[in-house]
Amino acid sequence: MTPTVRTRIAPSPTGAPHVGTAYMALFNLAFARKHGGQMVLRIEDTDRQRSSPQSEQAILDALQWLGIEWDEGPDCGGNHGPYRQSERLEFHQAEVNRLVNQGDAYLCFCTTERLEQVRKEQMANKETPRYDGHCLNLSTEEIEKKKEQGDPYVVRMKVPTEGECVFTDELRGEVRIDWKQIDHQVIQKSDGYPTYHLANVVDDHRMEISHVIRGEEWISSTPKHVLLYQQLGWDAPSFAHLPLLRNPDKSKLSKRKNPTGIFYYRDAGFLPEAMLNYLGMMGYTLPDQREIFSLDELSESFEIKRMSLGGPIFDLAKLKWLNGRYLREKLDSDEVVNRLVDWKANKEKFAQVLELALPRLETFSDFFPLAHHMFEECPIYSTEDLIGKQEAQFVTRLLKIAEWELEKIKDWKRDALAELFQHMAKVEEMKLKDLLRPFFFAISGSAVSLPLFDSVALLGPDLSRVRLRNALHKLSETGASLSKKGLKSLEKEYRSAYGNRID
Ligand code: GLU
Repeated sequence: MTPTVRTRIAPSPTGAPHVGTAYMALFNLAFARKHGGQMVLRIEDTDRQRSSPQSEQAILDALQWLGIEWDEGPDCGGNHGPYRQSERLEFHQAEVNRLVNQGDAYLCFCTTERLEQVRKEQMANKETPRYDGHCLNLSTEEIEKKKEQGDPYVVRMKVPTEGECVFTDELRGEVRIDWKQIDHQVIQKSDGYPTYHLANVVDDHRMEISHVIRGEEWISSTPKHVLLYQQLGWDAPSFAHLPLLRNPDKSKLSKRKNPTGIFYYRDAGFLPEAMLNYLGMMGYTLPDQREIFSLDELSESFEIKRMSLGGPIFDLAKLKWLNGRYLREKLDSDEVVNRLVDWKANKEKFAQVLELALPRLETFSDFFPLAHHMFEECPIYSTEDLIGKQEAQFVTRLLKIAEWELEKIKDWKRDALAELFQHMAKVEEMKLKDLLRPFFFAISGSAVSLPLFDSVALLGPDLSRVRLRNALHKLSETGASLSKKGLKSLEKEYRSAYGNRID
């Protein structure tokens, strides 16, 4: 009997749900379904500082909105739980101990300063920065003494000094990577938490994952994983590294050049099934070359070897074209009406917007002209209006700082937003009204509109952030964009004036 196919997606709950996560989830699901197997959703939350329960919930909600289903996960349970890494620490700890006792891993007491020094020297000698093995041969006595002194330590894996790691990638065939290029990876941090590499291997093994299908950015980590499987005496799963989504200029898909948040597409009025179809279309061509297909149709015909290896370009115009076809060809008119109502043409949404608009209304005809920006993807306005009497460069600076400041907001509510802009006005020594002027244009397309903070709160983080980015993009077309150097110095200035946090 062939073993059951089990795939997984393992997102880290450290930010807004990303289209790249949906892309990986889609192909993991298609593969599992094709082979009558299961897909697991595991939350990789070992980065304590950056992980949050809100982000975890948002990831689940975003995938559910898209129609991606998992068989086991933190919300629905299963036989291989718990499904959050932070609840599996005893499993990780046991294997770290085993590796240390076997002599396959070792304690490292090097200070950050020493590591930085080594890194600098290696860079100066044009060597790949990696750990120099300083603590590799500490004696038991030395280790005990340092532990007694309470010196902090991490645990590192021992990596062969000679030869190469060879593994098979389902898409690329044999991959060979020199062990010399592989760092003595930290597998347990000084706070006792495992790192991604260790936790990922232990959990994939214990969850009986048969196929690891993930982004190609992990290829260079796979030798570490292959080695850990060997050292722990376990069979490694099959690996397939999928090409990453790209911006039109072929760079890795980034929010600077494309909206990357799944909720952006929901809030801007895209259909989830069109979005899923588009994600599928980017990596895969059905045997009959059909462009419109459902998740079921993709799953039925799915063969991982047919995945394209070229970096798929995320093309917003093409997604919109496909979405239009769905509206016209896949839904009947009743269904379109229902979907539109569910989206924003409903009582709840109108009530929220009306609360802001009512003081400014004489007749109902005033409502939509005043509130159009609450129902569109991005308002239209001229760059001259955006700049007004200020310098384009200065407006760029304000928008950029607001973008960074908004990253700090965990709870996207009116009062927090008001506080943020008031604080900005204070630091910039500007009247609030003057400071807000370009933001009115960026968010609502006009200087006279609904109250700004309420609009931003209601629009939500995804649409609002993209509107600021669009405004920055408009300004860059006037030549007011920041050079790399300009951006660095603004960042420095920003850190000292606004506190040290840029996420
Ligand atoms: N937690 C990793 C991520 O956020 C998972 C990578 C993997 O699939 O191994 O992408």
